[in-house]
Amino acid sequence: MRVELLFITPEAENLIARCARISHKSVGKGPEDDRRLIRKLIKLGHESVLEHAHATFEISGISRACANQLTRHRLASFVQESQRYVEVQENELVRPPTFSEEDWERAKKLFQEAMDLYRFLLGKGVPKEDARFVLPLGIETRLVLTANFRELRHILRLRLSPAAQWEIREVAKRMWEILYAHAPSCFEDLSPLAKEPEGKEGRC
Ligand SMILES: Cc1cc2nc3c(=O)[nH]c(=O)nc-3n(C[C@H](O)[C@H](O)[C@H](O)COP(=O)(O)OP(=O)(O)OC[C@H]3O[C@@H](n4cnc5c(N)ncnc54)[C@H](O)[C@@H]3O)c2cc1C
Repeated sequence: MRVELLFITPEAENLIARCARISHKSVGKGPEDDRRLIRKLIKLGHESVLEHAHATFEISGISRACANQLTRHRLASFVQESQRYVEVQENELVRPPTFSEEDWERAKKLFQEAMDLYRFLLGKGVPKEDARFVLPLGIETRLVLTANFRELRHILRLRLSPAAQWEIREVAKRMWEILYAHAPSCFEDLSPLAKEPEGKEGRC
């Protein structure tokens, strides 16, 4: 899995604080003052000002199962690699941590059989968009996600939770690390969620 930042609003904390100050016609006194204001706004639930900053991530090496969950977030914007246009390759299967060596060997064998059938169908002239029907959910995909900070907070709150599935939790954790490094006051309160769960894995 790879989570790479493609773009983030420059000086996002300053922009958000400036926007917030419009309503009270006040003036900021520097970065710490901006952060204090943002923390206060988040505490009060006035998160609409966070919509003025946004970030774009490229997320690759995740399963289609994980991508299906990410793309449920309707206020984010996405582009996903197409199995209609891009041919699937042999080495593109995500290994869940719960698979033993033996499980993984069996899964790879099954995947190889599916790939053989996929290639056979392509060779016969079946289009990629139909040949892919024989491929598993664990197959790797790549996507780009863009969202404003308010929506990113919402995604992180849901997907850092121990109730979320392990793979999307890992994506969320990496996104959180990047966002926190760039705009700490906008994301720091979500940090406890980034800790490892003590209970069992969640569903979904
Ligand atoms: C632990 C976990 C388990 C899950 N299990 C399942 C499952 O078993 N089956 C399943 O189908 N899904 C499941 N989901 C997905 C879940 O139902 C949501 O689709 C997903 O979390 C996106 O959440 P959202 O709609 O709040 O967020 P977004 O789509 O990111 O929207 C953000 C917010 O905008 C507002 N909003 C967006 N669109 C509308 C709208 N049309 N009308 C009104 N308000 C809107 C809402 O306040 C919403 O919370 C699960 C999610 C989690 C985190």
